[in-house]
Amino acid sequence: MTRPVPRDAARGVAVLGSTGSIGTTALRVLARQRDRFRVTALTAFSNTGLLAEQVRALHPAFVGIVGVDNGAAPAEWARGTQSLVGAATRDDVDIVINAVVGAAGLDATLAALERGKRVALANKETLVVAGELVAEAARRGHGEIVPVDSEHSAILQCLAGRGPTEVRRLVLTASGGPFRDWPRERIERATVADALQHPTWRMGRKISVDSASLANKALEVIEAHHLFGIPYERIEVVVHPQSVVHSMVEFVDGSVLAQMGVPSMELPILYALTHPERVPDAGVPPFDPVACSPLTFEAVRHEDFPALGLGIAAGVAGGAAPAVYNAANEEAVALFLAGAIRFGDLARAIASALDAHGGRASGSREALLAADAAARTHVRERYA
Ligand code: NAD
Ligand code: MG
Repeated sequence: MTRPVPRDAARGVAVLGSTGSIGTTALRVLARQRDRFRVTALTAFSNTGLLAEQVRALHPAFVGIVGVDNGAAPAEWARGTQSLVGAATRDDVDIVINAVVGAAGLDATLAALERGKRVALANKETLVVAGELVAEAARRGHGEIVPVDSEHSAILQCLAGRGPTEVRRLVLTASGGPFRDWPRERIERATVADALQHPTWRMGRKISVDSASLANKALEVIEAHHLFGIPYERIEVVVHPQSVVHSMVEFVDGSVLAQMGVPSMELPILYALTHPERVPDAGVPPFDPVACSPLTFEAVRHEDFPALGLGIAAGVAGGAAPAVYNAANEEAVALFLAGAIRFGDLARAIASALDAHGGRASGSREALLAADAAARTHVRERYA
């Protein structure tokens, strides 16, 4: 039997984006681990009934509403985008789960790292927009990033402390999304409902569209490059429709380690909280290799999913190109979800924004945010 940890030894956790897919999953994990963690801060974009319910159940010391307040929120709750940084830098917060969607999560990641926190990062856009700045903030403040993204959690677990010189290749797996076996003409005309039908994961709307276009995998290649310091030419993507092998590392001696598990975000979220330790948890059903069989792998159809190649090229180009790629994608996805553009326009909009603004410099947060804004305006002016 494990002895219960005294309550004041429990580590404080801020959940940014607590009402989303990752946020609610994280709260489920945390509810099973009350001896180890206590929720001290919550933020959500709008003041929904779900947020109020979470506050009633958890009594966090800090609540932030980033966007829309419906007028019913208590006066002591924080308001506006600064509430993300407010939650992320509190003294009673040891770990920040950044589960916000989009570049909006950047300042909270930077601020938490500067204050020496662990950031359990689901918000991959943060690393794509400002990978170098994030690394600098972590160095300066002695903060630490532990990925929540299942592929990166898998790689972290396979690496087990081995450095880039011992790694030949990272192999990121991709489910292939709902259009994996669709012909190109049909993908071009896919509807919003089609794009939101992910075969193996239930997720927020933006990342579901990104998974259908494979833009999500491009964001993940850039994320892996920054997290693990591996050059782009040694990061590969392979399609694996069952989402059971979460990613692989091939070492210089030719040995390949893969991390497997049922497709549930509860596993990488818990690991991001406890890394490098493992703690008992009964959240997901036991792994049954026979029930998961067969496990298959396919090459990526790059010509039919051009958003992936565009994103990797933006990563290789460096400077502000990844920030432009990300912002153009965010804006194009919003237009697609609003019914304003076709699925096939997503990659065209991104390519057009990269042509116009991909060469910008990236020296500072301000330069990156300017590139982000220019890319958004570019896409809106041409496609809205
Ligand atoms: P979601 O849309 O379900 O939830 C987003 C959360 O952030 C909500 O709580 C929302 O209120 C809040 N939010 C939205 N816009 C905001 C803004 N501008 N400022 C502050 N808060 C805002 O999204 P999700 O699927 O949970 O994804 C969150 C992040 O995690 C994304 O970066 C995504 O790529 C990443 N991720 C998600 C999954 C998954 O399974 N859902 C897996 C891996 C990585
Ligand atoms: Mg992922």
